[in-house]
Amino acid sequence: SKRVLIVGGVAGGAGTAARVRRLDEDAEVIMFERGSHVSFSNCSLPYHLSGIVRDCDDLVLMCPSKFAEQYNIDARVNSEVTKINREEKTIEVKNLETGETYTEAYDKLMLSPGANPIRPGSIKGVNNENVFTIRNVDDIDQLNQYVKNNNVENVAVIGAGYIGVEIAENFIHSNKNVALVEAMDQVLQPLDFDMAQILQKELHDNGVNIVLSDPLTEVNDDHVILKSGKKIDAEAVVLAIGVSPETKLAEDAGLKIGETGGIEVNHNYMTSDPDIYAVGDVIEVYSKIARSKTRLPLAGPAQRQARAAANHMYNIPNKNNGVIGTSVIRAFDYNAAATGLNEKQLKDAGISYDFVYVIPTDKVGLMPDANPLHFKLLYEVPTGKVLGAQAIGKGNVDKRIDVIATAILFDATVEDLTESELAYAPLFSTPRNAVNQASLVATNIINNRYNQVPVTEVRELVENDAFIVDVREKEEYEIGHLVNSVNIPLSELRERTDEIPEDQPVYLHCRSGQRSYNAVLALQGRGFDNVINISGSFLGISCY
Ligand code: FAD
Repeated sequence: SKRVLIVGGVAGGAGTAARVRRLDEDAEVIMFERGSHVSFSNCSLPYHLSGIVRDCDDLVLMCPSKFAEQYNIDARVNSEVTKINREEKTIEVKNLETGETYTEAYDKLMLSPGANPIRPGSIKGVNNENVFTIRNVDDIDQLNQYVKNNNVENVAVIGAGYIGVEIAENFIHSNKNVALVEAMDQVLQPLDFDMAQILQKELHDNGVNIVLSDPLTEVNDDHVILKSGKKIDAEAVVLAIGVSPETKLAEDAGLKIGETGGIEVNHNYMTSDPDIYAVGDVIEVYSKIARSKTRLPLAGPAQRQARAAANHMYNIPNKNNGVIGTSVIRAFDYNAAATGLNEKQLKDAGISYDFVYVIPTDKVGLMPDANPLHFKLLYEVPTGKVLGAQAIGKGNVDKRIDVIATAILFDATVEDLTESELAYAPLFSTPRNAVNQASLVATNIINNRYNQVPVTEVRELVENDAFIVDVREKEEYEIGHLVNSVNIPLSELRERTDEIPEDQPVYLHCRSGQRSYNAVLALQGRGFDNVINISGSFLGISCY
């Protein structure tokens, strides 16, 4: 029978073990885990800080005895694999409890050691006892205990990625003062700058002190110091500034490391040694859209890769389309999801693109809990191929983004998306939901039916004295409007066309971009050929 050894006992490792067992009842499967738990929910770790997950033990999904009973898998915790001998096809293992080392032979070896949180030596005090990184159950338990035992009131979370934002929110729920410090100029890099503003406002409104464009330089007992010299009170510091793949074992064994720093694998997740596979945060993957190597440290891809690699050990071929990059997060009352490439990534990949914003309600407006859904769709020019999308709102943004992720998987165009037939009843959606609406607008633009500028260009338009018509009703205009914009409500537009100049561009906006879109078409139909919609409109502007 086949002997399959696995390094790492969480997402990729446990996934591989389970799939091998399903494929081969006779295989001998041993999974080695350096830490004290296998198969825990990394993604739920931050929720222990607020008590949403009350007991640390609840974070552990399967214990070694269950692996043995249910799957006949030998899961060994506190067991570090220290060396791979490729010639002999053996590994060396250190029992961290006894200090004993021993050797095990393999037919196939799987590497799923994950990635380590980054702790830059350049930060003064980075190894102080009040500085924490979060990767496993012991880490979150230690942080939680430290905060409780030392009556910590002020926490600095460094890094406003997914983990940083989740930790910040959970600390707010446990009544801490939280500073969220980020070196870049926005939170959550998968989102574009314009979309990230919505979440930043939500974090700010809930009491998170967001500090942008200011990296951490020094940690002290009761405060941190940032590059600008700014001092922030903090008795505990959480570093969440990214992860680096744990490639040492592979490197020492002479396995090929890729250009991005992850282990290089082929489309079946085989390393440069045909008897060694690698999956999860430690590998580099192929981006379907950018057509280049990248890293994508997420749980979904790790599990898919584990299954595919195990299949290949048993000669079952895989269809590997490359990764798309789909993610979702909740920050207080808002959900944000993204898929595909954002503007920065598209620019880096040299792909010619355009985008549209639409802001429909997420359900029929009469229904309880109907809220605006901010939706941005990115597509290739001139082909219309769907490249990515971002959605933010209080409702189910993930269902819209999952549709786009599926469209990208099948190489759909925005025109294909106009035909998407999605579930509708008033409590769930609108008859023409965000996906339909955005794809219709994009198709119109590709076919030159009208022109638009994104809401991000409004400031420049105002500064350059552009002629901007606000087509909302008078009462809406009076509550707040763009400086120097002229109010001609859509309901009066057809009678007041003489107020609209024909010798200069005219920009139209409303609340969400929908009435102004109708106004643009009405004016075009009356011979005005230089009218431009401001996509995103007032709801977009109010995010800044
Ligand atoms: P891991 O799950 O990290 O497992 C690797 C294991 O290998 C580790 O336990 C490590 O101790 C062990 N190991 C390493 N070297 C050795 C060795 N030499 N010998 C023995 N054992 C070894 N992803 C999402 O998609 N959505 C989320 O919401 C999300 N939230 C997250 C929140 C947090 C706080 C964290 C930390 C991660 C989150 N992730 C999320 C990322 C996700 O958890 C990872 O992408 C996924 O777990 C990667 O799986 P992996 O098997 O590659 O690595």
